[in-house]
Amino acid sequence: MKIKNYINGKFENPIHGEYLDNYNPSVGEVYGQVPNSSKEDVENAYQAAKNAFPSWSNTTLELRSKILSKISNLIIEKLDFLAAAESKDNGKPVHLAKSVDIPRAASNFQFFADALTQFSSESHESTGFNAINFTLREPIGVVGCISPWNLPLYLFTWKIAPAIAAGNCVVAKPSEITPLTAYLFGEICSDAGLPNGVLNIVHGNGSSTGQAIVEHPQIKAISFTGGTATGAHIARVAAPLFKKLSLELGGKNPNIIFADCNYDKMLATTVRSSFSNQGQICLCGSRILVEAEIYEKFKKDFIQKVAELKVGNPKNSETSIGAIVSKQHFKKVKEYIEIAEREGGRIIFGGNKVTVKNCENGYYLQPTVIEVANNLCTANQKEIFGPVVTMMPFKTEKEALQLANDVKYGLSASLWTNNLNRTLQFSKQLETGIVWVNTWMLRDLRTAFGGKKASGIGREGGFEALRFFTEPKNICIQYE
Ligand code: NDP
Repeated sequence: MKIKNYINGKFENPIHGEYLDNYNPSVGEVYGQVPNSSKEDVENAYQAAKNAFPSWSNTTLELRSKILSKISNLIIEKLDFLAAAESKDNGKPVHLAKSVDIPRAASNFQFFADALTQFSSESHESTGFNAINFTLREPIGVVGCISPWNLPLYLFTWKIAPAIAAGNCVVAKPSEITPLTAYLFGEICSDAGLPNGVLNIVHGNGSSTGQAIVEHPQIKAISFTGGTATGAHIARVAAPLFKKLSLELGGKNPNIIFADCNYDKMLATTVRSSFSNQGQICLCGSRILVEAEIYEKFKKDFIQKVAELKVGNPKNSETSIGAIVSKQHFKKVKEYIEIAEREGGRIIFGGNKVTVKNCENGYYLQPTVIEVANNLCTANQKEIFGPVVTMMPFKTEKEALQLANDVKYGLSASLWTNNLNRTLQFSKQLETGIVWVNTWMLRDLRTAFGGKKASGIGREGGFEALRFFTEPKNICIQYE
């Protein structure tokens, strides 16, 4: 199958006719081609967006909301189709795409269809000066949205929905590793009556197509989710062009477990937070820190549960862990396991490639648990982004907090305790943008989402996203 760009409501071949191979990681085979778009393709997408902007930014909120809702409904109508496509492209279990990725893509649109009708400007009366201020929230114009491969349609729509809800027009690029659902999404937008040019999807490599979006002088804001190194590069390119930037980057999230927690709930949730989506979620808890008095018991119980996870063909309903997204990423994750061993980590479960029947060339890896003694080892400091967790004990609250914060990242943390004072003390002192207490990845789309430190700048979600995608303008009127 040949994927095309979606520009001005039409499916277009890339101008220079260049394509990249698109792999199905569950069988390790090429199943299609994706455009490797050039600067000229990005320029065409920009022109379409620019031309659509005057009309779209003046569309009534009611109509905008209606179109966004329609997009949401159409995603749900195509749930099975989109879930199968996402699984084929990414390697994740079909049932996961069906229960998480695709419903969430629909929720992203429904949420912002509703939120845009509630987003209001502020006004301030300057008492004593006979003056009143009101602050308009104006759409920025043409904005760029660049998303990664781990939750393809989920994160693609998480950016596009607020951008167009706020009245902007968009040039978007999904990861070239997982372009399929973004391609299918173009048709959904046309069917929902989204005017031509409001959303333009350009496929291709990050270093060429993505770079062209970031460098484009008239694309005034970039919302990016991806790796920290790419985020730093984008920030360097965008800064002299004075672009607004939202960067959602990597994580090395601690999962801090105290003996007084609800043990069974913690155990089941920790298995999920470690290995969901093959561990390829920026929010996965990749460092498990356990209070010493329950450490040995936890270790035994955790390994027993992990051993029950079934690595297999993503199409099978009993599969818990599908394929790693690409051969290259598989190699990277495997190398991190080897480095952990060389640095003295003890692999207490997994660590090996899995050969799956009828999918012999797919990229399958056992869920892997590594016991480490030093928080400064590579496995505890670098984002591995695969089905790999480390585990180590702590003795005191002070030590737990020190271990939790002693990384360059600051995306999220999970805290397991029933002690109210500890909950509040810890939640305030953890250097992360998100803290979950006695749960994991419970998402309310109204809340601010994002990280501190090397996990990014800016926040997505709710009105934060609508604020990002608008420019405030204050108007001050003095009366007599
Ligand atoms: P990358 O940073 O490699 O890529 C992300 C996107 O940016 C892709 O579309 C990529 O294209 C593109 N890109 C790469 N180079 C450039 C460039 N120079 N200019 C513009 N765009 C570029 O990340 P991955 O796709 O490997 O995704 C995994 C990463 O994403 C992990 O580090 C993970 O933590 C992070 N992530 C963060 C989340 C958060 O909310 N904080 C959520 C999910 C993931 P291409 O694919 O062609 O390289």
